[in-house]
Amino acid sequence: MEMTVGEIARACGGNILCGDPERTVTSVSADSRTVSPGALFVPIRGEKTDAHTRIPDAFAAGAAAVLTQEHTRADGPGAWIAVPDTLRAAQKIAAAYRRGFAIPVVGVTGSVGKTTTKEMIALALSAERNVMKTEGNSNSQIGVPLTVFRLSPEHEAAVIEMGMSEFGEMARLAEVAAPDYAVMTNIGVSHIGQLGSQENILQEKLHITDQFHSGSVLFLNGDDPLLSGLRGKTGGTVVWFGTQPWCDFRAEDVRTGTREVSFRLAYSGGERAVSVPAPGMHMVLNALAALAVARQLGVSVEKAADALKNYRPLAMRQQIRRAGGVTVIDDSYNASPDAVKSSLSVLESFREGRRVAVLADMLELGGYSARAHFDVGIRAAAAADILVTVGAEAEQIAQGARSVRPDMRMCVCRENEEAVSFLQGVLAPGDTVLVKGSRGMHTDQIVAALLSRAESEGRAR
Ligand code: ADP
Repeated sequence: MEMTVGEIARACGGNILCGDPERTVTSVSADSRTVSPGALFVPIRGEKTDAHTRIPDAFAAGAAAVLTQEHTRADGPGAWIAVPDTLRAAQKIAAAYRRGFAIPVVGVTGSVGKTTTKEMIALALSAERNVMKTEGNSNSQIGVPLTVFRLSPEHEAAVIEMGMSEFGEMARLAEVAAPDYAVMTNIGVSHIGQLGSQENILQEKLHITDQFHSGSVLFLNGDDPLLSGLRGKTGGTVVWFGTQPWCDFRAEDVRTGTREVSFRLAYSGGERAVSVPAPGMHMVLNALAALAVARQLGVSVEKAADALKNYRPLAMRQQIRRAGGVTVIDDSYNASPDAVKSSLSVLESFREGRRVAVLADMLELGGYSARAHFDVGIRAAAAADILVTVGAEAEQIAQGARSVRPDMRMCVCRENEEAVSFLQGVLAPGDTVLVKGSRGMHTDQIVAALLSRAESEGRAR
C-alpha cells in the first residue's frame, strides 16, 4: 500500500501530533513484531494486553507512523496520529484505501465454509486473473482491514473473507471491503450465543451487501433452508447455486467419494463435468459458488473448473491422513454443529473397516449448546460405529447418540489424553477416525498423538 501520513489522518479524522504529513507509509501492521520499515503501526487495546505499550518497538523496527488513542502529545522518530479508537480508525483508513481500486471485490461470508469457499473462488479466478485473497482466515474486524491494505495495483480481483460474531460487525466490514459481489455459504448456528437466533444471523450477514451498487450480485446457496427462503424477496441480482432444480448454477449427478467429489455443472452457458479432490457434499456447494463467481467476473468456466482440480484442503480442515493402516480425517481446526454434520457425512462415506467419530465440545453456542450437541449425537449414531466424546458439553453428544442407539460403543472423556488412550486400545488397521472439535479444545493433539504413534510403530517394525 502507499498512503501519506496526511492522507491517513484525513481518512480517519485523526490529529497529527507530530511528524511530516508528506511522509509515505508503505504497509500497515497491528503487531509490533511484524512491523517493517515504512509501516503504519495500529496498536489495539485488547482484553489482556494493550499494544500501545509496543509503540517504541514499532518505531525501533522502522515504523513511519503510529496511531494512538492514548496520547495527546508526542514527539519521536515518526508520525503520531491521535484518534478516538485505533481499530475504528484502521477500518476507516482501509475503507479509503479500498476506494482507490476499481477492481471487482468478492466478499465471502457464511456460518461455515468461508475459508474453503474463499480459497476455491480465488483458485477459480486465478485461472485468468491476478487475485489478492485473504490469508488464512483473517476475517475479523482487524483482519479485513489488514487484508485490504495488501491490495496493490497489479491485482485484478480480490476475494475477501468476512466473519462476524456480534451485531454491527458485518456492516463495518462491508464499509471497509465494499464488496461488489458477495457469497453466502449457509446460515448455521455459529455465534448463536451472541446473536440469539438464526434469523438474526441471516439479517446480520446480509449487511455484506450494504455497499452494493447497480452492478452488484449476491450469490446464495439454494440448498440452505434459510437462504432459500429469500427467494423472490431480495432486491438486486441474486445468483443461486446448489442442487435445487431452480438454481442458476446447479450440480447434477453428484458423486461423493472418500477423496473427491464430482458432478455435472448445469448453468445458462451449458454443461460440463467438474471434479474437486476433496470429499463431502459441502465441497460441491463451495465449488459451485466458485464457478458462479468466476463466470460473473468473465473468467472461462472451463478454465475455472480445471483450476479447481488443483484444490488442496487447508491444514486441519478435513485433511485425510494415514497412520499405520488407520485413516485419520483431521478436522481439528474448529467445529460448529453444521461443520460437524458435514464432516460426519464424509466419515460415513468410508466403507471399509469401522468408522470412529471423535467429537469434542463445540463452543460459543450459549443457551443453544445442549440441544446442538444432542442433535450432533443423533447424526453421529448414524454415521459412526464408535463414538468418542471429549469435554463437558460433548457429553450431550453421547446422550443424543444413546437416544437413538442405546447399544452404540462409546467413550465419554474429559480430556484429550483419555481419548487418545482409548483410541490406542481399539483402533485397528482399516478403521477411519474423524477428529473434530472447537479450536479451544485442541483436538489437533489427538491427531498428533495418533500420527506419532503410527510413526514410532513404523520405525519399530
Ligand atoms: P469457516 O472459514 O467458515 O470457519 P472453513 O472453510 O474453515 O469454514 O471450514 C470449516 C469446516 O467446515 C471444514 O473442515 C468442513 O468440515 C466444513 N465445511 C466446509 N465447507 C462447508 C460448507 N459449505 N457447509 C458445511 N460445512 C462445510
